Amino acid sequence: MKLLSKAALDIIEQLNLCGHEAYAVGGCTRDMLMGRENHDTDITTSATPEEIKEAFSALRTVDTGIKHGTVTVISEGIPFEVTTYRTEKGYSDGRHPDEVTFTSSLTEDLKRRDFTVNSIAYCPHKGFVDPFGGREDIEGRIIRCVGNPEERFTEDSLRILRGLRFASVLGFGIEKKTADAMRNCKELLGIVSKERIFSELSKLLCGENVKDILINYSDILEVVLPEIKGMKGFNQHNYHHIYDILEHTAVVTESIEAVPHLRFAALFHDCGKTECFSRDENGTGHFYSHPSISAAKAEEALLRLKSDTGTREAVVKLVKVHDTPIEESERIIKRRLRSMGEELFFDLIKLQRADTKGLAPEFHSREAHFDTLEKMARQIIADEECFSLKELKIDGNDLINEGFIGREIGNALSSALDAVIDGKIQNKKEELLAFCIKNK
Ligand code: ATP
Ligand code: MG
Repeated sequence: MKLLSKAALDIIEQLNLCGHEAYAVGGCTRDMLMGRENHDTDITTSATPEEIKEAFSALRTVDTGIKHGTVTVISEGIPFEVTTYRTEKGYSDGRHPDEVTFTSSLTEDLKRRDFTVNSIAYCPHKGFVDPFGGREDIEGRIIRCVGNPEERFTEDSLRILRGLRFASVLGFGIEKKTADAMRNCKELLGIVSKERIFSELSKLLCGENVKDILINYSDILEVVLPEIKGMKGFNQHNYHHIYDILEHTAVVTESIEAVPHLRFAALFHDCGKTECFSRDENGTGHFYSHPSISAAKAEEALLRLKSDTGTREAVVKLVKVHDTPIEESERIIKRRLRSMGEELFFDLIKLQRADTKGLAPEFHSREAHFDTLEKMARQIIADEECFSLKELKIDGNDLINEGFIGREIGNALSSALDAVIDGKIQNKKEELLAFCIKNK
């Protein structure tokens, strides 16, 4: 088992020397028991915020949430959140406690925590303190609420999404009563801030168990993601597909690299299919213009969820072109590199590759095609071939010198680039200028 870092142990030790109890708690203890990396160590202590600051007068401290008992202690350059044991009461807004009271009981502090696997405390002298069976649930790979699940989700509905997120990231199942309560309380998710929903969804989508969570808990996720409504059980009536739209989406999401914009693109890539289904005379299903409908829905969803602009723009662009085949032709690849930029071009291949994993097995052999496309694009880039204006051997100034003005300049550069990509002219200054002048 991976032990706590020296810096974390020093903090516990220092609080003990000052006469206070102190334990590592929450995600770090859980991850330590599972042998997983954890980014931050949270410390819970019997010391009041004033006593915490006194104990660390030699170090830099920040009053992160002094009213709630949290002081950040910076040790060896690493920030540690040190929080006084506390209980919470009264969640009248369904999200935040009305009242936080400090307590001297570690068990009381552990009781307010969301899931058993998150309510294990550890310190080197006393070992594990685990009053709610968190270790057994880690062993059994299960997410279970501390206390009565419906009460806990009514207090703070964000916990529903946190529970799904932990199940996805840790690869755990969800205990039946906890899952039932998630369903009974799902509408309460409506009061959670969009930013928190976006942040939880991003982590959930990047989890190793995302496929099962999307398939088994879509009814809950629909409350925050109405875009996925109607996907479950939607038979595509097409020989490419052995899955319904939801299962296909879940497989594609699981198959793509675990980075938020790629996972969101996978999640939304076919969400417009439910709106444009038709069947031809043979009974085969078609979804004409589903990429643009999906892209519009993805944009709406990500605006609503207050996604960062970079993620939103990348997702919308990827979804829009996800279904357009790319030929193994230098000219086509250069055009794509030009219109999308290098990074997004490779992302598109990742999305198309993942998309085929969600098809019937006979279409999985398309892998070789994507390998070829990647190889060809890498070669074009390595050879510094011309596919964007920055590689073109003339620029706006050259055209101004030739008497071009205003819009003419951009239009001429763009046409010259097209001609170079299409192999009609060479990327040489004289040739380019002659081309522009001729076509002015
Ligand atoms: P991560 O790996 O994402 O940091 P974590 O378990 O550390 O996971 P945090 O959000 O950092 O999660 O919270 C630290 C701890 O605080 C949790 O493990 C849990 O004990 C408690 N906690 C956090 N949010 C809630 C909540 N909404 N309700 C109850 N307890 C919570
Ligand atoms: Mg944490």
